[in-house]
This record gives sequence, C-alpha cells and structure tokens, in this order.
Amino acid sequence: MTRITHMAAGALIGGLFGKYGMLAGAVGGVLPDIDVRLFGEEKDREWHLFKHRGITHTLLLAFAVSIGSYIYLSLYDYEKLVFVIFLALLSHIALDSLNFQEEKPFYPLKTGICFKIIKVGTIQEYLFITLPLFLILIEVVITKYKYYI
Ligand SMILES: [Zn+2]
Repeated sequence: MTRITHMAAGALIGGLFGKYGMLAGAVGGVLPDIDVRLFGEEKDREWHLFKHRGITHTLLLAFAVSIGSYIYLSLYDYEKLVFVIFLALLSHIALDSLNFQEEKPFYPLKTGICFKIIKVGTIQEYLFITLPLFLILIEVVITKYKYYI
C-alpha cells in the first residue's frame, strides 16, 4: 500500500485513543516502510531480511518498536500510545499483505503471506481502501473531537 493509505489507517486507529493517538498512529502506520530509505526498493522475487518488506514488516520488529516506545514514552506519561503504535504497525503489515509482494511477518518462521488482492498505488487501492479510511477518520474526528469542517 502507499504511504497515504498506511497513514490513514494508523491515524484512524490512533484517533480512537485521543488526539496524540492520531499522530502516534499515523507515524506507526508508515514506520515499517522506512526500509525503502534504509535498504532501497529491490524488486527481485526472493525474500530477504534487509530489503523492502523484510525485517521492518515483521511482528518481531513491531514488538521491538513497541518496547522501545514504551521505554521512551513512559518518561512522559504517554504509555497508552504504545498500544496505538503497536496496532498501527500491525495495520501496516495487514494492509501490505493484500498486495502482490510476499512478506514474512512471522519471521524467523518462513511462513509468508500475500493475498494478491490489490496492487500498490492503483485506483482500486485509493477507491476501496484509502478513501473509506479517510471518510471514517473524518467521521471519528467530527464525532469524537467535535471538530467541524
Ligand atoms: Zn510496507
């Protein structure tokens, strides 16, 4: 999925937990794709730990980031945001599993998932995933926080 879709999903999850949750969720939603910056975006078919959808798209890293976030955020009494970050990371893995590139979220187990439902950046993604997420997010913002556009 594209960055905007992951951000919308994370912000929606976080929006249910408060205003700071929305920000934490948006960041957590896009965080796994930092691997594109770190390792580049290789298109070869063989799965590798240090390539796009490698280690950053695993439950192992989701737990590690959550533990690190807990250590940092507990200094400022924002521990509840750790749950938001964890859920946003899981949403990223779940959304990417709908694409055509395999990921192995259960690493070190070799089980890979790839549902091959939606291609990245297509009109189908924006119409059936991104747009509904944004509409629900707007509804959450309006009803929960009483912000009117
Ligand atoms: Zn991703």
